[in-house]
Amino acid sequence: MGALSVVKINRELLSLRDIVLRQKAVPVPVQDEYYLTLCRKLALEMFDVMYASDGAGLAAPQVGISLRLVTVHPSSIKFGPAVLINPVIEFMSDEKEEGDEGCLSLPALMGTVQRAKEVQIKAYNLQGELKEYHAHGWLARIFQHEIDHLDGILYADRVTSEDKLIDTSPGSRRRALEAMRKLT
Ligand code: ZN
Repeated sequence: MGALSVVKINRELLSLRDIVLRQKAVPVPVQDEYYLTLCRKLALEMFDVMYASDGAGLAAPQVGISLRLVTVHPSSIKFGPAVLINPVIEFMSDEKEEGDEGCLSLPALMGTVQRAKEVQIKAYNLQGELKEYHAHGWLARIFQHEIDHLDGILYADRVTSEDKLIDTSPGSRRRALEAMRKLT
């Protein structure tokens, strides 16, 4: 295992603003080759953490680093492994859909969140090149969930109602595990 581990928070402590998960992460100076080299090392470690946790995506604040960098590699979709640096959502469809989400930073919870069905984002890669990505459905949801992390927003803030954020009892644990496997 590498030096990084997932920063977690209890449901009761979600209102705390003094933790890295709640901070607005800092943009990566992508023109700086030194920084890009560091980002390559960081991304490799993050992929390790992400794969070990069976996650589809991971944002740098989730490993305690307040930088605008996300790793994405869902097992259920043909996309990635990709590193998104300073990602920006350029377009979000008005059409929304509900879906279940979990997060490695909020253990034993899951919730129903309404997200845009389709997004267009732009982000730098590890070579410092600006790329565009168009996504719908599950991948669009992953992008929105991970980019939220860079602004200190957790999916629990977006659950459609409080009772839709549920503690995963042993009975529903399997369903929750499946959700968390899909999205971290
Ligand atoms: Zn998450």
